[in-house]
Amino acid sequence: MNVKALARWYANESRDLPWRATSDPWAILLSEVLLQQTQVARGIGYWRRILNRFPTVTSMAEADLDEVMHLWQGAGYYARGRRLHALAVEVCDPEGPWNGALPSPSTSDDTVADFQRLPGIGPYTAAAVASIAHEVPAAVVDGNVRRVVARQTATVQPTAGDVTSLAQAWMDGAHERNVAPSVWNQAVMELGATVCTPRAPTCSACPVQQGCMARDHTNGPTAFPAPAKRRVITERVLALVDVDAQGRPRLFQRPTEARFGGLWGPRYLDANGPEVAHECERRTKVGEVVHLLSHRRLEIEVWVGQTEHGVDPASKAISTLDERVLNLAKGG
Ligand code: SF4
Repeated sequence: MNVKALARWYANESRDLPWRATSDPWAILLSEVLLQQTQVARGIGYWRRILNRFPTVTSMAEADLDEVMHLWQGAGYYARGRRLHALAVEVCDPEGPWNGALPSPSTSDDTVADFQRLPGIGPYTAAAVASIAHEVPAAVVDGNVRRVVARQTATVQPTAGDVTSLAQAWMDGAHERNVAPSVWNQAVMELGATVCTPRAPTCSACPVQQGCMARDHTNGPTAFPAPAKRRVITERVLALVDVDAQGRPRLFQRPTEARFGGLWGPRYLDANGPEVAHECERRTKVGEVVHLLSHRRLEIEVWVGQTEHGVDPASKAISTLDERVLNLAKGG
């Protein structure tokens, strides 16, 4: 791997993203948590809005979870919002070990390990924040890095251990050549996101095409790595939307540990559950919504009934799925 060529390419060609203009660990942590499952273009708006309201870890710790979830609304994967709030509360706990500050080399012997002790922080996020905010030479491993490793070495199914070892060896080599850890990690990920893409890598524009073993392989670069097999489970549920005389639905806050926990929505029932016949007796089916999650296909029958007291949905944090369900119930 030609370290200097990749670092030079990153300096000249990388996308201009707002979190790349800061070294504030809180702002970088927020970008990493958002980008795990939200596309960059959409993530920018969420990052700006959430950071604007919560510019520090303390400001989020002092807020209600409801307010955090309201800002997270529409970004999906809501457990991330809940865990980030839990992280802020833990960091700012006066009885806890963090003294209101995220781990950093000035307060921690092992910044990456300390990050991983916080709620919702895995090896990727820990290495990303430690390297980008504090220049700790810890290699990140995400899907982009895995793909670049697989292609550079023409490995069909690299193990997690193989990918981590090679990514760290690249990081060590870059560090020896005075390439900053923040630059190196972001350069490898940027290469995977924009040039060495899953279906159509542009090898002719790749700064590390020399020495890449997949580039001229007889099976072509996209043979590496082999696509992961995904099993999608279908779940059938009923959404019971009861509305009042003003057309406002009755909403319930979902338990923290449930799917869409902390958000509000109508009551859901398992379509094969024992209460279905009884609950449907006094309601009318108005249609069906299909929603895809990462490993699940939700098929939701929407049943509408009546209630005395509904609420204005705009006043509550609601998932994109429940917005679709409520729109269908409203006749939208
Ligand atoms: S040469 Fe092609 S396959 Fe190899 S790293 Fe570059 S873009 Fe990916």
